[in-house]
Amino acid sequence: MKVFDRFHVYLWNGRDNNCNSCLFAGVLPGGKHVLVDPGHFVTPAMGESALERLLAGIRRDGLDPSAIGLVILTHGHPDHVEGAVDLARLGAKVALHREDGELFRRMGGEADLYLQDGTLELDGEFRLDVLHSPGHSPGHITLYWPERKVLVAGDCVFYRSTGRTDFPGGDAGQLRRSIERMAALDVEELLCGHPYGHSGFIRGREEVRENFRIILTYL
Ligand SMILES: [Zn+2]
Repeated sequence: MKVFDRFHVYLWNGRDNNCNSCLFAGVLPGGKHVLVDPGHFVTPAMGESALERLLAGIRRDGLDPSAIGLVILTHGHPDHVEGAVDLARLGAKVALHREDGELFRRMGGEADLYLQDGTLELDGEFRLDVLHSPGHSPGHITLYWPERKVLVAGDCVFYRSTGRTDFPGGDAGQLRRSIERMAALDVEELLCGHPYGHSGFIRGREEVRENFRIILTYL
């Protein structure tokens, strides 16, 4: 669904586990798009056609999936990156943090570029801040679009909960510091990596603040 100009969100509503995705439309040279976290190709337990559903949603928004020029992965876990292997075959470039590059390689993917903490300048005036946010995985990144106060939090933050830290490379202390850094940003639209007990799209500055307040009290 289109949230506002240049920002589209695709909330997973299948029965199996898969991630939420989003797309920044027309922000690359030539009017191409940036897709964040395409998720599974097919979900492992129930065989739901996850990537097909995502691409259908993108088409419903009047956008052409073949114009996806860049796929950004918040981290390297299979339920976020599997679809990127297929999109790369169709010509999209793939970017993630170097420290999760090995996880992506295990899925059969290869990064075209590595992202690190800093500002990613895309076409013209469009820029995204990249925050290295380790804790759930060593190379987890979150994306902040300051112009519209959008935060794409991946698996760091969920509605009233946080990402797991019991996977290889997980670290609870790092996750807390990563979340504290996010909580200091001015955020009005927070997209979480999964729809756990909620769509995973938290809207409005007060709702976002309240969510950070609650999770930081027990983290
Ligand atoms: Zn994950």
